[in-house]
Amino acid sequence: MQDCLFCRIVRGEIPAAIVHEDEWVLAFKDIQPQRPVHVLVIPKKHITSLAEATEADTEVLGRMLAIANRIAVDQGSTDGFRSIINTGRVGGQEVMHVHMHIVGGQEPVGPMLKR
Ligand code: AMP
Ligand code: ZN
Repeated sequence: MQDCLFCRIVRGEIPAAIVHEDEWVLAFKDIQPQRPVHVLVIPKKHITSLAEATEADTEVLGRMLAIANRIAVDQGSTDGFRSIINTGRVGGQEVMHVHMHIVGGQEPVGPMLKR
């Protein structure tokens, strides 16, 4: 995806504060953090949203979940975190490349997140 913002971050065309990278997954700090820890975890492969995900994406989506706690702890969210994946219009998705927010810090994030 040539013009996708997060694909451009994967290719290194746009700078990001990368906190984890492996063959399948990239994680970087959210540019507008809502909590002391706010990281986005994305598949390196372009998947527009969970509405477009297929069974072929099972492994990479699982990897995003499996790596989440390690990233959260590394960033200082040592006693849990919230993971959020917004999907489509109703979910309030702004960037059309699947991303999981990892939100946390030392204090509980509260019942829901609000901007
Ligand atoms: P969503 O509403 O779930 O699509 O969230 C998109 C998130 O991407 C927002 O929290 C933005 O702050 C974040 N974001 C947008 N552009 C960048 C960027 N260049 N680097 C890091 N985070 C970004
Ligand atoms: Zn993309």
